[in-house]
Amino acid sequence: MRMGSVLSRTPVTAAADLDISTGATASMDFTKPRYTPMSRRRRIYEGKAKVLYEGPEPGTLIQHFKDDATAFNAKKHQVIEGKGVLNNRISEYVFQHLNDIGVPTHFIRRLNMREQLIREVEIIPLEVVVRNVAAGSLSQRLGIEEGTQLPRSIIEFYYKNDQLNDPMVSEEHITAFGWATPQEIDDVMSLAIRVNDFLSGLFLGVGIRLVDFKMETGRLWENDLMRIVVADEISPDSCRLWDIKSSEKLDKDRFRRDLGGLVEAYTEVAKRLGIMSEGERPQGTGPVLVKG
Ligand code: C5P
Repeated sequence: MRMGSVLSRTPVTAAADLDISTGATASMDFTKPRYTPMSRRRRIYEGKAKVLYEGPEPGTLIQHFKDDATAFNAKKHQVIEGKGVLNNRISEYVFQHLNDIGVPTHFIRRLNMREQLIREVEIIPLEVVVRNVAAGSLSQRLGIEEGTQLPRSIIEFYYKNDQLNDPMVSEEHITAFGWATPQEIDDVMSLAIRVNDFLSGLFLGVGIRLVDFKMETGRLWENDLMRIVVADEISPDSCRLWDIKSSEKLDKDRFRRDLGGLVEAYTEVAKRLGIMSEGERPQGTGPVLVKG
């Protein structure tokens, strides 16, 4: 998905003068990109849980996190207020730290409660799943009891195709059908191992077991050079996170398995990571209780 580079500038309005990263007015600073109200932005792509809009500069996009929760290829759907805000914050935290330790990602910065500025990449049509503990489809497919520690981390590839229910594929399929080259598969696998090591340690430090996660990757061009970067999101929507002591599920399985308490679980993850302070609400809008 390579997008055109000509962006339409928004007519100047009060809202357009707001630099949403700082909240300061930017009317005197013409070097800063202007904020385009959501209704006037060009929508590039709408997925199940996110929308991509044209970004303020060529080569950038705005990733907007919705409150929609889907499972089983969207057969199950619910709007869960606050989920998008939490995933935006948690994914920002993960991607910023990955950038900081030299794992390349598409992430530039968070813009507001629901949106982040990202680099435009060409998504490789693979979902890369890394597993440390047996759960979910691995347990079902191979009859391994959920919770069994795996002898080593296992990387799996799924072809991103909703009509086909994201089938599992091998490196043979990936190279034969041209979804990625052998070198790109090597790069994707080494990124997956680095992300798994980082995430495992990050969550272990806050009493959470990283059971498995899904990541996506994309090709980022810088002049004539191309490199593979981590893209999309990494959040409790795309990870299995279990409390180390109680094994309580703090991830999207709460929705998939009708356990309830999804926002509470995601808020717990955010709090343990130090992203949200005690008493902070995940909702970006709505009434705020003012204590007298
Ligand atoms: O369902 P399965 O066990 O294969 O999922 C493995 C991991 O990948 C889980 O953490 C799940 O949340 C994630 N996943 C995802 N998006 C999908 C499929 C799986 O984020 N479409």
